[in-house]
Amino acid sequence: MSKTSSKKSARIGIVSLGCAKALVDSERILTLLKAEGYEIAPDYQGAQAVIVNTCGFLDSARAESYQAIAEALEENGKVIVTGCMGADPEVLKRFPNLLSASGPMQFERVIEAVHAAVPPPHAPYLDLAPPQGLRLTPKHYAYLKISEGCDHACSFCIIPHLRGPQVSRPASDILGEAEALVKAGVRELLVIAQDLTAYGIDLKHAASDWKGRQVKARLPELVRELGRLGAWIRLHYVYPQPIADELIPLMQEGLVLPYLDIPFQHASPKVLKAMRRPSFQDRTLERIRHWRDRVPELVLRSTFIVGFPGETEEDFRFLLEWLEAARLDRVGCFTYEAVEGAPANDLANQVPEKIKQERWERLMAAQRRISALKLKNKVGMRIEVLVDEVDAWGGIGRSIGDSPEVDGVVHLAGDLVMHPGDLIDAQVTKAEDYDLIAKPIQCLRSWSNSWPPPANHKPMSAAMMNPKER
Ligand code: SF4
Repeated sequence: MSKTSSKKSARIGIVSLGCAKALVDSERILTLLKAEGYEIAPDYQGAQAVIVNTCGFLDSARAESYQAIAEALEENGKVIVTGCMGADPEVLKRFPNLLSASGPMQFERVIEAVHAAVPPPHAPYLDLAPPQGLRLTPKHYAYLKISEGCDHACSFCIIPHLRGPQVSRPASDILGEAEALVKAGVRELLVIAQDLTAYGIDLKHAASDWKGRQVKARLPELVRELGRLGAWIRLHYVYPQPIADELIPLMQEGLVLPYLDIPFQHASPKVLKAMRRPSFQDRTLERIRHWRDRVPELVLRSTFIVGFPGETEEDFRFLLEWLEAARLDRVGCFTYEAVEGAPANDLANQVPEKIKQERWERLMAAQRRISALKLKNKVGMRIEVLVDEVDAWGGIGRSIGDSPEVDGVVHLAGDLVMHPGDLIDAQVTKAEDYDLIAKPIQCLRSWSNSWPPPANHKPMSAAMMNPKER
């Protein structure tokens, strides 16, 4: 085969399922393949083999993964499975024709399987891939995974079983990747891990060298350095532990967004105990109050599970009352779903589906009211918005309180010229239950301008915290 035809024919397809952490794994695989000269095929027909990166967090995700594998086999025939489900022997039992099945982060095995199916078109030229790697997100935001696996043992979850114990990346490694992303145009870094607050425990918080400074593998130290890069830093999955208190001064300095995603899952002490949740304690409301006293603009997001085995009407009401007191800004809710292999399956008093659904509706109605009220209070305020999309009428963006995919958006209506990735100043004109409508006023920083901003730049998000400056 000629070099040209060989290069043309080395085309791999990828189907990425699951959460942001799985997406980061898919991006790694894409980057490795591209570095070896493979092309990424946009459809089954154009691919010589297809990688399916699976998710097995819930039974519904497992069903979706099985469906995706079956479809890839039918449409293409040469299928490599990786991710959470790849570690499950059931996958090979169901689909004996797979080229390979490997677990999360087993990138080498994926690449080996690709090599066996579709030989690399030529010797690796590392410069074929940009230094920041290849990404599946728009070019102005990116996920930054700082550790893999989990050391907790929540009774409804099989992630520690699928992904193993926590393995953290050294701080210098993360900062190198973050800097490359920002240089490539990323304006928002979404820092992710199963438990950010546990970051570096497995490394005994060992420091590594970053531009002549020793940076400890510890969340506050890492976030301080990330904040210096000049992009929005948003944290997903923080637990209400003392280390989270150390993030508050960093928010006050404008180094990290005043946004915390804390997966509380429930409020009833009895249910939390049955869930075996980490850092369960009855002083959570007190901690939230303390944070808000210091950072009034703090946006709190969380997720909850209703209908967990043994959850009584009294437990559920306790959760509703807790929500009224906590007044969280963003809330996601799921009805409990048994996951094969999770210890919670053996718990007594499983809640009937009808009751789970009814509790879900009650919780969502309560939260919709809280959200609408909180957003209504923003009408008239000036907010900083990162533009995601532009259309003839304006565009869509996100405020500091909106993480992509999971939170609300800001609908921008006006004639200011904007581009995706621009940071603009906008005035809120209307509020809906979860979204805001705002009029763009001025561009604060164009996506195409040099980045990071000058050292004396004061993020508006920090200014908003001081009511005198509003
Ligand atoms: S903290 Fe709990 S829910 Fe989250 S990954 Fe670890 S075991 Fe699963």
